Amino acid sequence: MTTAEVAGLLVDFGRELEAQGAAQVGGSFSGDADADELIARSSNAFLIGVLFTQGIPAERAWSAPRELERRLGTLDPRYLAEHPEAVRRAVQTAPMLHRFKETLPRWIVSAADRLIQDYGGDAARIWPPGSHVIDVTERLAVFDGIGRKKAVMAVEILVRHFGVELSGRECGQVAYDVHVRRVFLRSGLADEDSREAIEAAAARWCPGSPGTLDLPAWLVGRQWCRPRLPACDSCRLSGACARRVHLNPTGVGVRPHSAERKTSPDRSFG
Ligand code: SF4
Repeated sequence: MTTAEVAGLLVDFGRELEAQGAAQVGGSFSGDADADELIARSSNAFLIGVLFTQGIPAERAWSAPRELERRLGTLDPRYLAEHPEAVRRAVQTAPMLHRFKETLPRWIVSAADRLIQDYGGDAARIWPPGSHVIDVTERLAVFDGIGRKKAVMAVEILVRHFGVELSGRECGQVAYDVHVRRVFLRSGLADEDSREAIEAAAARWCPGSPGTLDLPAWLVGRQWCRPRLPACDSCRLSGACARRVHLNPTGVGVRPHSAERKTSPDRSFG
């Protein structure tokens, strides 16, 4: 078992997912055909979905734009920007669309404002074909509620699932997400839990497109490499993984043990 072998397994899994044009969980974003169809049809809905991918399961996050549209009657950024109270009510109406019940509405309104001011109200103008991965990542990261981690994830989805042609894939990256971190640390791909170390490992093992490792690592972390009771024997990486299961990054994304609960921040993509 070598680190190169585990990296090879993860790269192979990533290439498979790229060939499938995988969304996030299997072929779907949300598990709901209508919600997925909206994400596919509307760049603005996709951007709003990215805002939701934090602190709740991914499927629920990607369902939120459809439900928000149903509650408001539109996702037109001009309407969203001009009706912050309606957005707030729509997010908070039971069942609430997100547990960040004050923050999410602010992010949505702020994103609508930015879309109008900088992109003519059309999120697709953030990632016109031929743009460089770094430029698109930076444009997304400045949105309130996105930041680098979600921007990196979004760029990979744009390329892998939507087929947006971006240059500079060698500059793409894995998101510093708790599932990705856990898999990289436990498998031996990285020895240090820092964004720099995880990104350096991704660039080392998949130099042509480090972001290729983002979804497979996230899926392995979510499905098999769970914080407790990892399912090593059935894991995609079982044949080569170092199985350092005692390594369990805390902080963003992990429900801490009771003694840690008061101090650790909340989780990410779900
Ligand atoms: S579940 Fe086990 S085999 Fe799979 S990545 Fe985690 S530690 Fe490795």
